[in-house]
Amino acid sequence: MTHLSSIKTIKNRLIEDVSKYWVRAWLLHILQKPSSFLITDEDYQLSDTELEQFDTGVAKMKQGTPLAYLTGQQEFWSLNFSVNEHTLIPRPDTEVLVEQVLDWINAQPTQLSNKRLLDLGTGSGCIAISLAHELKRANWQVVAVDLSSEALKVAQHNAVRNNVANVEFIQSSWYQALSTGDEPKFDIIVSNPPYIDETDEHLAHLTAEPISALSAPNQGLADIEHIIQQATKYLRTGGLLAIEHGHDQGDAVRQLFLDNGFESVHTVKDYGGNDRVTLGQAQ
Ligand code: GLN
Repeated sequence: MTHLSSIKTIKNRLIEDVSKYWVRAWLLHILQKPSSFLITDEDYQLSDTELEQFDTGVAKMKQGTPLAYLTGQQEFWSLNFSVNEHTLIPRPDTEVLVEQVLDWINAQPTQLSNKRLLDLGTGSGCIAISLAHELKRANWQVVAVDLSSEALKVAQHNAVRNNVANVEFIQSSWYQALSTGDEPKFDIIVSNPPYIDETDEHLAHLTAEPISALSAPNQGLADIEHIIQQATKYLRTGGLLAIEHGHDQGDAVRQLFLDNGFESVHTVKDYGGNDRVTLGQAQ
């Protein structure tokens, strides 16, 4: 006989509006088991507490809470990041940005070491920490800024969690708190800024995440434009600027790079085949 609280019944329960993947991942998170457990131990009976926790989470997911906010975790670049409602949940597409930056570094004629990288609007810190992790042996220093002190707390925690010490976190509205004078300029500036148009219907599906991390005025281009316009004050000649943007913003973003004197400007697609990251070098 199958008990009502057995894995067998729960995992096959049809849950409207919530993906099966989320339901299974949530169940595994509660049980602290690997995914094979759902196959090997189908008759396992959930305790009352486990069942209650499971049901509460499913109810929240039905109301639009993403799985990552329930588990408090999201994997990115094979590292584990803590997330909460103050940070955007890292997206797989953003790994394209990390990959492109590392490719650019590897393609340089001489090995780049002891260099500096800036991440604007770091959120959970996923981009800055992944890059700092990859570049720590080459002695790169990463500076990561965010306007939100709550997001910075999460990012700082993630740096410790991932054993990355070469990142400095600064509270700043984009470049505002950075000095233009005494410090050497950055070799690379990266950003995944808010870029969804304020009237975009897509926003209605993203209600759990901080709106300030998602949406910007001027067809979603306001922050991207500011970042590009100010970049050369902080970026060395020949340095790289890499920005994530919306699938329909490639033309506009390339134009902004060109208008601000960048060269080798090009856009790279994400894993879904959409324009996602534009890169250029400061002249
Ligand atoms: N790529 C995210 C989305 O469309 C948005 C990320 C962002 O605004 N920076 O869901």
